[in-house]
Amino acid sequence: MKIDILTLFPNMFNGFKDESIIKRAIDDEKVTINTINFRDFATNKHKKVDDTPYGGGAGMVLMCQPIFDAVESVKQKNSKVILLSPQGNTFNQQKAYELSKEEHLIFICGHYEGFDERIKTICDDEISIGDYVLTGGELPAMVICDSIVRLIPGVIDKESAYNESFSDNLLDFPTYTKPRNYKGMKVPDVLLSGDHEKIDKWRKEKRLSVTNEKRPDLLESKVKLERSGLKKNKHKIYVDDIKNIKVTEIKQVKKTGVYKVFKDDEIRAITIFNPSMITGYKLKGKNKSNSVNKILVVKDSFIRNVALKNVKKKVDILAYRFNLALCSEDDDDATSRVLGEAEMLKQMIINMYANYLGGENLDKIIKNINLLTNEFVKAKTIQNSFFSKEKEEQRRI
Ligand code: SAM
Repeated sequence: MKIDILTLFPNMFNGFKDESIIKRAIDDEKVTINTINFRDFATNKHKKVDDTPYGGGAGMVLMCQPIFDAVESVKQKNSKVILLSPQGNTFNQQKAYELSKEEHLIFICGHYEGFDERIKTICDDEISIGDYVLTGGELPAMVICDSIVRLIPGVIDKESAYNESFSDNLLDFPTYTKPRNYKGMKVPDVLLSGDHEKIDKWRKEKRLSVTNEKRPDLLESKVKLERSGLKKNKHKIYVDDIKNIKVTEIKQVKKTGVYKVFKDDEIRAITIFNPSMITGYKLKGKNKSNSVNKILVVKDSFIRNVALKNVKKKVDILAYRFNLALCSEDDDDATSRVLGEAEMLKQMIINMYANYLGGENLDKIIKNINLLTNEFVKAKTIQNSFFSKEKEEQRRI
């Protein structure tokens, strides 16, 4: 993995790179960490990297030019550009796992008041390390890099990472070392028993009870994930990188317990295939070289859940639009617009989602939309007659 950190204070990273596990990972060539002072890219006479904010206000704002050029100088096809910002998505262990799989990360550390908003257009992600404001992005960059680097295979013992806090939404189990008895505080007997089955069981139970005690929110989301059936790896049967393989070369990419990807004459970029098919599919990449980077095979139930979720979101938006139309008193335009939208939504769901939702779900959803529409029409009729009576009264007065 290669990490480039764009900063105005590269010296802050000296200690970080020169000590402990990060140093070892660099020495073992598991990771390269470069710091780049983006002031070196400023093209103005005084190497200025910031200026006053348009519209007035306190502080200085980092300018586009030095940062755009610094990113351009290191960016490659496989780079992921990350802006460090208190407004970003909050960093967590799951994100650390995802980033540890990347080949090249570019971090942009802000300072002063922050960035010119247009810098976000060259970034793939915006990450915050928590709901507090630091003076610069250097400490967040170190925090994130540290958590990522230790997940690169071979950097730390595989087993240590496996049980760690937050893996599988659980906290780590309690640990003890010598002596067995310290000032009357004894190590639990089970850990001294030498019975590894018992020790494993004890540790698993402790992970659950410690999480329940200290972070019940983690347990709740674990249960939710499992219930929703969207838990990673359970439903994603096979996700793999097959970089630089020409599509025509993909014959039999991977077999799993149930699913297979084969070659076929059908040419589709994204496709859902039936496991019982024996001919399989030929895949065509969207890029010029016609290569495919990633094949994602998912269970039907996963696709159905996602389709259902998407459609429900659309129906919720429709309900919200009906409400707005009710609030707009006797506005006929709003009424006919929202009724048209309801009709279009039904057609769209039938055309695009029918295959994924399954007949029963489709029927339910269409019935729901019809129900919403009828209720809206009833309410609108009552509302209109109320307003016309009111107007009549006023006219008489
Ligand atoms: N005015 C900005 C705001 O309120 O959103 C804060 C700017 S902060 C003083 C300067 C820089 O420090 C930010 O641009 C960002 O790069 C970094 N920074 C500060 N807090 C951060 C956090 N919680 N997570 C990630 N980066 C942070």
